[in-house]
Amino acid sequence: MLTAMHYPRHLLKLIDALKRLPGVGNRSAERFAFDMLQWKQGHLQELSGLIDAIPHKLKSCAECGCLIGDDACPFCSDERRQSGFMCVIATPRDAFSIEQTREYKGLYHVLGGLLNPMEGWGPEKLAIPQLKHRIQALKIREVVLALDSTIEGDASSLYLKRELEPLGMPISRLAFGLPIGSSLDYVDGGTLARAFSGRAKF
Ligand SMILES: [Zn+2]
Repeated sequence: MLTAMHYPRHLLKLIDALKRLPGVGNRSAERFAFDMLQWKQGHLQELSGLIDAIPHKLKSCAECGCLIGDDACPFCSDERRQSGFMCVIATPRDAFSIEQTREYKGLYHVLGGLLNPMEGWGPEKLAIPQLKHRIQALKIREVVLALDSTIEGDASSLYLKRELEPLGMPISRLAFGLPIGSSLDYVDGGTLARAFSGRAKF
């Protein structure tokens, strides 16, 4: 039987690289890699070019940390947004999930992760000083914590509550309808919309 042992070195490297993607194990990575062997040269070049350009074409907004392309930040630079509200999220992707609900029209702040001492992610790794600075500079009237309903999300929310309470504005957290242990990524739009309109004082 021909096994992975006999794969050419470059194919093994490609499979290993594909396995860095979330949810992609050995079998999927092998399937993707063998599929790519059938691709036209132009399609391979297109994919490698798109990947190569990620650091130049996709950046974080210096203000809120949300994902931006060549244009200004769609959240910070939009004067129609309600500037008194600050929604705290773990990753740039969460802003897009929340935008789809159409329940929220305020500003965002990306923490850059969640507290996870086991993984070495302490508060110093999160954009908390910037958050405090923005809350004061932008005269924020309500902070909404939109973090996962997981142990890490709960720990981060409690930590932020303690850190932000002295600033004096109300703090709420998405809770209603969010299944325990769920990541925002996996919650459907309807549930997330209910979680927003039903946000509770925290
Ligand atoms: Zn921004």
